Amino acid sequence: GPGDADDDIGRRTHAAAHFVFVPLMAQGHLIPAVDTALLLATHGAVCTIAGTRATAARVRPTVDSARQSGLTVWLVEFPLDYAEAGLPEGVDNGDNVPVEHMRSYLDAVALLRSPIESYLRAHAPYPTCVVSDFCHPWTTVLASNLGVPRLSFFSMCAFCLLCQHNVERFNAYEGVADDNEPVVVPGLEKTFLVTRAQAPGCFFRGSPAWEEFADYTERAQAEADGVIMNTFEEMEPEYVAGYAAAKKMKIWTVGPVSLYHQLGDGATLAARGNATAIDADECLRWLDGKEPDSVVYVSFGSIARADAKQAMELGLGLEASGHPFVWVLRNAHEYDEAVRSFLDELEARVAGRGLLIRGWAPQVLILSHVAVGGFVTHCGWNSTLEAVAAGLPVVTWPHFSDQFLNQKMAVEVLDIGVSVGVTEPLMYRKEVKEIGVGRGVVEEGVRSVMGGGVEAEERRRRARALAAKARAAVQEGGSSHGNLLDLASRFRAA
Ligand code: UDP
Repeated sequence: GPGDADDDIGRRTHAAAHFVFVPLMAQGHLIPAVDTALLLATHGAVCTIAGTRATAARVRPTVDSARQSGLTVWLVEFPLDYAEAGLPEGVDNGDNVPVEHMRSYLDAVALLRSPIESYLRAHAPYPTCVVSDFCHPWTTVLASNLGVPRLSFFSMCAFCLLCQHNVERFNAYEGVADDNEPVVVPGLEKTFLVTRAQAPGCFFRGSPAWEEFADYTERAQAEADGVIMNTFEEMEPEYVAGYAAAKKMKIWTVGPVSLYHQLGDGATLAARGNATAIDADECLRWLDGKEPDSVVYVSFGSIARADAKQAMELGLGLEASGHPFVWVLRNAHEYDEAVRSFLDELEARVAGRGLLIRGWAPQVLILSHVAVGGFVTHCGWNSTLEAVAAGLPVVTWPHFSDQFLNQKMAVEVLDIGVSVGVTEPLMYRKEVKEIGVGRGVVEEGVRSVMGGGVEAEERRRRARALAAKARAAVQEGGSSHGNLLDLASRFRAA
């Protein structure tokens, strides 16, 4: 546990590894990076996490509490130069950067290279390794200026990365005019069908500026000294090995990193990633009153959103399902008066059975509660893996980017999910078609995952077995545990 570090204090001050984390300032990248830093620190490493101001504020309580428990982790914040970057003031994180500013936001963050470098030179101990989000190609320069190796950090699964790699490497979409025509992912033993709309590649290659960024990122990835991935070996051994071979790169799988928080107290877990819109104790009391496995948790992560019409269909579907639910509406404040009163009325009708959280939810705290029995998810990789770690079957509802491949992972590889049948991205496209998921589909999805019956029982059993493997992976003797130890010792100071 976190206390172990105290036993190592002698070794640590002499030659401990010092990892400098440069996460992408988006919750889906930042949260697992912070968890990974804390896990490395429990194995005696020293970690510095570099962040922009408002983003650092979101994870400061977690880092502070880790330091109080004896870990050597620093969170250092750097101001963004908004004027220089031509960015609107205050834009600081993936969840508040308008998509048209995303590219300049990434450039603005790259301007932090020199302040980060000066800071690291001025504050002992000298770093021994840079751990960079794969979206920060400029950290190649940071690492080489410092004269230290650089690892790429992925909050994605190996299955998704290998599918994307193979589709690109073997030009799977060549000659396929229709973005929705399924093609077989080349080079895999099992057959998986994808479309260009679902798996277009890592970045929107829509404009010259993005093309250039994607190429820069690819070059930076090829130059990395290895990859840290939030997944675990036993869940997808063939894909971890396949991706390592395809990229000719060492991979350290260290997940599920959310399980770091099982070492600590509930308060730290509740604060993970942001200040919550609901009191954690109130939330737990509500769950305490429910039967085991009876509640379905519904969230689309930190970026995806349901538009007004979709939110209403979703609400009505949850109501009709008859199951207790916790529904997170991160963008509730954006809805107009009509939707807000719809939500208020719904809330009144399902009082005691449905809990609406308008804003940030203590997700892993909720998922870990015995009353929760299923998860309607947008299939962000962190959420998917958090469901795995909690032993929960999922209803899959991908919105964009890697979420379609993560859905495939949950439904076709792990066989713990039921899809609502979305076939095309719902966000970040030039033309987004109206692809509503009707209340009937929501109801049916929830019922099939939460209801009884042989299929549902078996799905739940598989999810539970997977969770046991996940826990074993992060415990002493487990694969992720071993990889963390290896990182902490391999990148020690000379
Ligand atoms: N999360 C949370 N509360 C919320 C929304 C999200 O704790 O209300 C966390 C969630 O547990 C996960 C991360 O934020 O760790 C979201 O990452 P994911 O990859 O699932 O989706 P993204 O937000 O990147 O689309």
